[in-house]
Amino acid sequence: MSGDLVVEGLTREFRLPRRGLWGRSATLRAVDDVSFTVPAGQILGLVGESGCGKSTTARLVLGLIPPSAGKVRFGGHPVSARIDADWRRMRRRIQMIYQDPLSALDRRLTARHQIEEPLVVHADNLSPAQRAARVDEALEHVGLSRTMAERYPHELSGGQRQRVVIARALVLEPALLVCDEPVSALDVSVQAQVLNLFQNLRRKTGFTSLFISHDLKVVRQVADRVAVMYLGRIVETGAPEDVFHRPAHPYTQALVSAIPDPRHRGRKRILLEGDPPNPADVPAGCAFHKRCPAARAECKTLRPTLLPKGARSVACHLVHPPWGQ
Ligand code: SF4
Repeated sequence: MSGDLVVEGLTREFRLPRRGLWGRSATLRAVDDVSFTVPAGQILGLVGESGCGKSTTARLVLGLIPPSAGKVRFGGHPVSARIDADWRRMRRRIQMIYQDPLSALDRRLTARHQIEEPLVVHADNLSPAQRAARVDEALEHVGLSRTMAERYPHELSGGQRQRVVIARALVLEPALLVCDEPVSALDVSVQAQVLNLFQNLRRKTGFTSLFISHDLKVVRQVADRVAVMYLGRIVETGAPEDVFHRPAHPYTQALVSAIPDPRHRGRKRILLEGDPPNPADVPAGCAFHKRCPAARAECKTLRPTLLPKGARSVACHLVHPPWGQ
């Protein structure tokens, strides 16, 4: 059971409180006209600096918050934030893996109890014996023994805890897994194990996934396609070999230049000047122009659109010149 995830024109604004008695309230556009499709059974890696709108996109895709504009469809059905029977049916098919396994788990309950919990809530037609069998199956999928399942979160290592979180997400046999920084809290060696596990499970169960990370190395290992986000917008999207080896957007080039890669020994690290601009005060034109080493005069006024260029899409005037070259 799987389906395409289709996101169209997704936008989410937040109203910020007024500054002082006479100050005007501002609007922060955390996600701005984002569109992408993740074909059934594939993984889209969404990357970008912290605060670029990745996690808000995840919450919108999960239907945890309503969009200001745009829509999300999964397997042909709309995902909405309205809690009704449709939402419950859909939530069962869509699961989330969070960044910090310790805070995602209840310290007072054993691993087994926590893996079984979603079945109690969403699959009340199952008998206790059937639930126990499903928990055992999920444990086997993630490589945890039954003895381990009787332990409490503080008795498990970081990697084992994240396996429990993954088993809990998988026990309902989800068709879509949204992962928000699923390995950032883990050691590098444990990260590799969990990423391998994730890939194997995807092959076995065929789920579709939106995989969010600030770490390009992590995304390179798992994604079938990559989307790079900057200040709420997607600026480049393509196959990992294109995005990581021949990045087209200057922002992607800077991100990629920071990854040590023996195939690109001579590649110079591109250091971006300044911090990302305030999302409540996005510059006119290209939002990246104040930090872009290749910016031209037109970039200050003309906003680039994400347009196809071969097998990828890029939002940059150098790739799609508005000055007609
Ligand atoms: Fe840089 Fe201009 Fe391209 Fe924006 S549009 S990334 S400022 S060159």
